[in-house]
Amino acid sequence: MSTKPLSDEQLEEYKKILVADRNKSLKIIKEITDFMKEGFAESSGDLGSYSIHQADNSSSVEYYNKQIYLLEKQQEKLKRINQSLEQIYDKTYGICQLCGKYIQPTRLRIIPFAKYCIECKTKEEKRHTSI
Ligand SMILES: [Zn+2]
Repeated sequence: MSTKPLSDEQLEEYKKILVADRNKSLKIIKEITDFMKEGFAESSGDLGSYSIHQADNSSSVEYYNKQIYLLEKQQEKLKRINQSLEQIYDKTYGICQLCGKYIQPTRLRIIPFAKYCIECKTKEEKRHTSI
């Protein structure tokens, strides 16, 4: 188990990944909010692959709800990315918020904005599903 603090090089590396992820999220959020603003007013013809005016009402609503769901997911992700970036500046990045141990680098590589180490995450999941 890794209990070593991250080096400045590693922090810099994660910062790059997080900034790239943040830009991606911001782009998706902008696309969805633009779509929300324009998409249901009139068919502007400028929406590329969106062909909402061709769809019947029920699937439009379904599509709309799906966009809201995606938007919420992205906003949640963005919040966690911003928190992680703040932690990088504070040099507290990579520390599990439950047990205070360092999160495994293999885990951070997959989820750079992870809040918990794998043990705590597994425990949390067990607790939630065992109710
Ligand atoms: Zn932990």
